[in-house]
Amino acid sequence: MALQEGEVYHCPDPDCGCEIEVTRGASDPAAAGAANPRCCCGREMQRGPASVAA
Ligand SMILES: [Zn+2]
Repeated sequence: MALQEGEVYHCPDPDCGCEIEVTRGASDPAAAGAANPRCCCGREMQRGPASVAA
């Protein structure tokens, strides 16, 4: 799924804990592909904040 403005992605590695927010989404989602962004530590980032309580 292409990145969309305002989405938050977090690194699944608790030892890393990196989290990013998309400040500008893909202008054409159909052309942007479906890969998740990759963290600086090399892991594929997961959509949503890491601290999802419920
Ligand atoms: Zn990371």
